[in-house]
Amino acid sequence: MAGAPDTTPAPPAPIRRGVRPATFAGAGYPVAVRIDLHSHSTASDGTQSPTQVVRAAADAGLDVLALTDHDTDRGWAEAAEAAAEVGIELVPGIEVSTLHHGRSVHLLAYWPDPDHPPLRDALEEIRASRRARVPVMLALLAEHGIELSEDDVARASVGTSAPGRPHVADALVERGVVEHRGEALARYLQPGGPAWVPRTGIELVDAVRWIREAGGTSVVAHPWGRSARDVLGRDTFAALAAEGLAGIEVDHQDHSEQDRRDLRRLADELDLVVTGASDHHGRGKRGHALGCHTTHPEEYQRLRARARRLG
Ligand code: AMP
Ligand code: FE
Ligand code: FE
Ligand code: ZN
Repeated sequence: MAGAPDTTPAPPAPIRRGVRPATFAGAGYPVAVRIDLHSHSTASDGTQSPTQVVRAAADAGLDVLALTDHDTDRGWAEAAEAAAEVGIELVPGIEVSTLHHGRSVHLLAYWPDPDHPPLRDALEEIRASRRARVPVMLALLAEHGIELSEDDVARASVGTSAPGRPHVADALVERGVVEHRGEALARYLQPGGPAWVPRTGIELVDAVRWIREAGGTSVVAHPWGRSARDVLGRDTFAALAAEGLAGIEVDHQDHSEQDRRDLRRLADELDLVVTGASDHHGRGKRGHALGCHTTHPEEYQRLRARARRLG
């Protein structure tokens, strides 16, 4: 009709590669923005340097990537530089190794100040316990006739400040004892295995609080993926939410379709953010390609709104 106002909705904003999504966040992230909130570099147990991970993320068509190495922020500066070069948004993160009722629980911290004293001290304590654990694993392997030296493990851990089972596993691969990291873990290093050494760590609820105090926000990583499932039910999530937990990583390779449906419902009930991510480790973990799971832009906006200290 001539003269009538045009009520046709505006077409969705085009995705402009090379433009940091934060620059048009005010109008909401276009739905097609691809966001992966969990990845690892050689700063912990990934096989790619922070620069390589960021470049691979851009090549995979991601617009936002969180680098979340275990218990360290060591990769952040390098990753931020690479992200600026390729034009993607980098979320500085840390996957903190915590314990809840004695079970290992991984907690993703986003945008925290890593120098906030309680958080900094906790991360240092975890890294010290990681370093102390390596010789114990080696002694147990020796009891089973496998001679591996600390130098062998050091060679497999160049660049990392959080040595762990994956590096011992890589040293076993290098020695020709096993074919790949997963086999080493399954045969020797998993709970109940001949060289299994439990990790000491900080309490989950303390970590949630320290991350919040450090200006960041937290998401429980793959809560039902491994051994911690039975200690991570509704009551625990409700208690953690009261301490400042922002979300649950729902879409993850280690979760079944049913897990995802149940976790999504739980998140909905508790008003927690739902995230999805690859948990990419380079060649270190099969089936975790960058972008294989992603976080919805609206959920990402909610997550950002929970952090006091962005960038
Ligand atoms: P740690 O923190 O030293 O106990 O090592 C745990 C890490 O080992 C996890 O973050 C994973 O990256 C890795 N991991 C555990 N199981 C496997 C597996 N089956 N295949 C590959 N990586 C694994
Ligand atoms: Fe890992
Ligand atoms: Fe994890
Ligand atoms: Zn991870």
